[in-house]
Amino acid sequence: MHGPDTEQLAFDSQHIWHPYSSMINPPPMFPVESASGVRLRLTDGRELIDGMASWWSVVHGYNHPALNQAAHEQIDRMSHVMFGGLTHSPAIELSRKLVEMTPEGLERVFLADSGSVSVEVALKMAIQYWHARGKPEKHRMISLRNGYHGDTFGAMSVCDPVNGMHELFSGVLAQQLFAPRPEPPFDGGFAATDIAELERLLDQHHGELAALILEPIVQGAGGMRFYSPEWLRQARALCDQYKVLLIADEIATGFGRSGELFACNHAGISPDIMCLGKALTGGYMTLAATLATAEIAHTISAGGAGCFMHGPTFMANPLACAVALESLNQLEQQDWHSQVQRIESGLKQGLEPARALTSVADVRVLGAIGVIERHEPVSLAQVQPMFVDQGVWVRPFGRLVYVMPAYIMSDADLTTLTTAMVAVMQELDRL
Ligand code: PMP
Repeated sequence: MHGPDTEQLAFDSQHIWHPYSSMINPPPMFPVESASGVRLRLTDGRELIDGMASWWSVVHGYNHPALNQAAHEQIDRMSHVMFGGLTHSPAIELSRKLVEMTPEGLERVFLADSGSVSVEVALKMAIQYWHARGKPEKHRMISLRNGYHGDTFGAMSVCDPVNGMHELFSGVLAQQLFAPRPEPPFDGGFAATDIAELERLLDQHHGELAALILEPIVQGAGGMRFYSPEWLRQARALCDQYKVLLIADEIATGFGRSGELFACNHAGISPDIMCLGKALTGGYMTLAATLATAEIAHTISAGGAGCFMHGPTFMANPLACAVALESLNQLEQQDWHSQVQRIESGLKQGLEPARALTSVADVRVLGAIGVIERHEPVSLAQVQPMFVDQGVWVRPFGRLVYVMPAYIMSDADLTTLTTAMVAVMQELDRL
């Protein structure tokens, strides 16, 4: 099947929900026919350099020979079998690799089917852990202002109602606590007062708190902000002091994106529970993972319920696990660290000219993440075609114009991407 034709596009606009979209005023769609390397090919023959990596996930580029081969080989064996009572090598070898790669102490793996579900699993693990320890009253969560953890009910409850994404549901969500967002920037100084409010909340509420959930170092959808590793170290220490579990949501940051394999590594800390997704399969398939310490897994299993109460149909899908395993092998073979360092310096150099624009509040780069923060929001309908005309795929969000390219993007393509971003920002200034 090739790219959608006019009739299919009409059907799409009438019948299909896209993310956060209206069915009365459906957003304009750019029909894509195929994708290879860092390029999206539209049905009209235009090729776009993709700055979004399909929302953080396509780290090795599209249509990658090794990932394709892993998928082909696995699909000829089995694409899916239930995981209840059955097991298979793709899940075992992937889990072994995850235990090896992730920060020390994370040794038990739950293979979920999407990032949001891995967050649900993490929250449930934390609640079940305290229940098993005879403290069922420790069932609330604390999270951070500007945090984002997904769109399902548990995940929404720990998102800051920032940008109004989930405000509508606030009346029916579990009532959680929120600490201020971490202010000290990634490479700035840190003062004890920067974390004083989190400490106060933990001191006051630890008796009812199961876990602190946060995005380590990079707050994504809630503002694309990079904060201080020292803040994260202090938060870890406070969780220990007040006996509150630490859940690190590394769904966006995992697998090298921030310049360390996991963002927690910037601070040299291990969380008690970690959520992974997005780049886990190199962006090929939907798969996520929740890792926990042996102590958490043991406590839950020794508790009254006797098991962890979660088990989705597509748990540990073998096809997704086989592709994920190959994606993790590729990270190592292709030396992700030098790739990300190269992207980081390209982004820093390429986006710098935007800093001089009056409409631009800040330009920041960490690892393979580049952000232009404007004073005013952009209109997607206005700006998306401008980027497409420049031959790039960039999808701004509110005041944020940001990219997180595949690690394999060449220097030349990166220059085209950043030049286009700056050009569109300049054009907006002139309009
Ligand atoms: N946590 C973070 C930090 C995310 O960025 C996202 C996705 N944007 C999620 C959770 C939810 O993942 P998914 O979209 O796969 O459900």
